[in-house]
Amino acid sequence: MPATRTRSSSSRHSPTRNLLGRPEVIVLSSDGEDARPNEIGSSRTKKNTIKKPTFPTREVLEISSSDEKPVLPKAPGNDGSFWQRENSRLKQINEHLERKVARQRGQLDNSRKCLEEQRQELVAQSREIDAGHQEIKLQQEKLAALQAKGKSKSIDATELGDMLSCDICAHLMHSPYLLSDCGHCYCEGCLRGWFDETLTKHIRAHPTYDVNRKLVPPNVPQILQSIGPPLPYPIQMQLQAACNASRQQQPEYTCPGCRQEIAKKPVVNFVVRDMVSLVGRALGQPDTRKESSGQRAGPFDAFFPE
Ligand SMILES: [Zn+2]
Ligand SMILES: [Zn+2]
Repeated sequence: MPATRTRSSSSRHSPTRNLLGRPEVIVLSSDGEDARPNEIGSSRTKKNTIKKPTFPTREVLEISSSDEKPVLPKAPGNDGSFWQRENSRLKQINEHLERKVARQRGQLDNSRKCLEEQRQELVAQSREIDAGHQEIKLQQEKLAALQAKGKSKSIDATELGDMLSCDICAHLMHSPYLLSDCGHCYCEGCLRGWFDETLTKHIRAHPTYDVNRKLVPPNVPQILQSIGPPLPYPIQMQLQAACNASRQQQPEYTCPGCRQEIAKKPVVNFVVRDMVSLVGRALGQPDTRKESSGQRAGPFDAFFPE
């Protein structure tokens, strides 16, 4: 049994209630008729109405046992086609909204795909950055290794410079000479000074020694006999004695290191000279000797006449 409560439209005050909290006017109806507040007091409902005439009617509660469905109000001037059109319009709106939702859902999916692609791209870039950091670290390690190697190279150059230095003057041998009798090598200046000291002592001991003299080859007698008539024996003996005497007057040059007798003229050590040139540039000790113009005589020709 549906019940409806009707508030008087003419009053905005709260409804006045009795002690049971009920509305002041209660209409009980079983015939399904629509009860209206202005119908209170009619002959049909008068006997079932509890009325308090001393108070004005403020609120009406309608109770009905009718099961009839509420009748929709008809639009003015329209019949049932109005609701069909409304239904069609609402269906169109619904379809439109569904399409809109589907479109937005598609856009959302696309946005999610784009977001996922950007996330993957970000991950890839992050990996590239990590790889770049690793590469930088490797390059830094290589650079540090090269720097350490460069330092070790300078140490090697220093050690090599020590090895290529003259044992007498301790300078790089820019003009190294090899003593083939013993294998030792000294710079030209030191070796000449050493030999000159020996020659000076020899001249002091042999005042008749001629520095500019030419030595007689020891095999001169044999050569003369092979190219000409045989020499008389006394002449051969005198000639051989002269050869031996010329050689016996030679100063006894020795190696300044091992004191081995040096009979052969020192020769240029080309390998050591090239190495000294290279190491000298690396150590900032280039050859400052001035090259003499023209072809000069050998620096040891005076000590070892031919
Ligand atoms: Zn020297
Ligand atoms: Zn030697």
